[in-house]
Amino acid sequence: MLTYGLVFVVVLVLLAVVVGETTYTIQLSAAENDLELAAFLAANTLEDPLSGYTEEFVAYRQWEDEREREKDEDESDEEDEEDEEDEEDEHTSGQGDEEDTRFEQEAGGIVLTQIGPDLPRLQQVASGYADDTHARVTILDARGNVVADSIYPIEQISNQRDQIEVIAALAGTEQHHVRADPFSGEDTLFVAAPIQQGSDLLGVVQLSQPMQDIMEAIWNVQLRLVGAGIAALVVATVLGIWIGRRLVHPLRKLEAAALAAAAGDLNQQVEISRSDELGALAFAFNFMVDEVRNMLEQQQAFVANASHELRTPLTNIKLRSETLLSLGNERPDITIRYLREIDSEADRLGHLANSLLDLTRLQQTDNTRTPDRRIAIRPHMIAVVQYMRLRAEQGGVELILTLPERLPSLQIWPDQLEAILINLVDNAIKYTPNGGRVAVNAEVMKPNVLISVQDSGPGIPPADLPHIFDPFYQVDKARSRHRHERPGFQAGSGAGLGLSIVKTLVEQNKGQIKIDLPPEGGSRFILQFPLPG
Ligand code: ADP
Repeated sequence: MLTYGLVFVVVLVLLAVVVGETTYTIQLSAAENDLELAAFLAANTLEDPLSGYTEEFVAYRQWEDEREREKDEDESDEEDEEDEEDEEDEHTSGQGDEEDTRFEQEAGGIVLTQIGPDLPRLQQVASGYADDTHARVTILDARGNVVADSIYPIEQISNQRDQIEVIAALAGTEQHHVRADPFSGEDTLFVAAPIQQGSDLLGVVQLSQPMQDIMEAIWNVQLRLVGAGIAALVVATVLGIWIGRRLVHPLRKLEAAALAAAAGDLNQQVEISRSDELGALAFAFNFMVDEVRNMLEQQQAFVANASHELRTPLTNIKLRSETLLSLGNERPDITIRYLREIDSEADRLGHLANSLLDLTRLQQTDNTRTPDRRIAIRPHMIAVVQYMRLRAEQGGVELILTLPERLPSLQIWPDQLEAILINLVDNAIKYTPNGGRVAVNAEVMKPNVLISVQDSGPGIPPADLPHIFDPFYQVDKARSRHRHERPGFQAGSGAGLGLSIVKTLVEQNKGQIKIDLPPEGGSRFILQFPLPG
């Protein structure tokens, strides 16, 4: 949350800088445009021939011309008397009659505007527009002399014809200019627009506004932007905390459940109330705990079964050895019999231990490993049947092998295929009564090869089918025990481990095993191995 908060703040600051700069530029150019538009509108009003303002411009011009003439006459009169040092400005009338204060004066290097005839209407326009636009409005004649101003007395204002915006207006273009105002000393924005009647230039309207006013407006906008940014930050923080809590709360519950499960309580289940990734995680956790519990239960059952299976022969051995010890040499016949039984039980224990080891080893092997090359299954099937033939004969069971002419080769481990078949055929012989029949078949049924071992024995009750491949599962212990006495007994059998070993082996070779109960009776184990691609 902190990281995201920091990223958000950085983004916000960058955004504020960019937006601030853009608004500054936009606002400034908007203020310039507004002022230029106002100058243009004022000029428009002033140049209207019906407004009567024209007359005041004309009156002023006449007065100026008159002053010009008077000055020229004065100059020619005094020519011989005195060599005046006053230099004349080429655009303005020079130093004048001392008695006429309305003449242009020079003060401190600034050429001030002379005071001409009263121009009340122009003054009114200047003041009116100033009120409307909040800018200072100055009206100039065509020579740059000030004829009206909304703030200052016109005689204090210098001639404006050299100002950049006035030069542009006189040339018929537009240009704004920022410079220090001579009265206030503040940076001020100046714009100007020509007052024109046809080709006759009456004058220029000059508008000016302190930059501070414009900057204040810009700062106002920027202040609002900063306010919005802070509000966004507050909202984002509150939302972030809320979302963070929503995320963290279920994670904490999951953490507690995981710790409890690690401490041994595998009944832990977390509530799934959401359909997002956290919901999926909770589901996966619950599933994992269930699986671990099942595995643990299976392992506990396995250990319990194994101990039970080991205990039976051990008890038998113990009973007999105790009897032998108490009897001494009195009954050699019993001694021999018990010793044989002890030997047989020891064998049984040995077989059991071997089977358990086999199963454990098989389950630990990496079952993704398949042989690199294919093997022909036909010779291995024939070998198994030949190997089991004697046992079948001893059990009074007919053993038949039916194979098609050609059988494809498969990618399986040959010794494992033989172990699978030996176990199945052995079971079939074991559970089939005298005079019965065991048939081993193979056929291609694309995309698989099917190998079946069918017998005419008692079959397997349907209720037992789901558990038949579980370790230590036996359908009927009495039946197995009885059969166990049969000579030439197959290693590992009698404890219910054979079929679970078979299943593990089949699966390690990428095959499947199924049981079919044929209508004519008996049972049929079907192995299914995929044909190589
Ligand atoms: P076991 O060593 O007891 O034979 P298996 O795992 O090989 O153990 O078999 C499990 C149980 O399945 C046996 O106890 C037996 O009841 C039953 N079973 C296996 N094969 C057959 C078969 N061909 N006919 C009838 N029952 C069978």
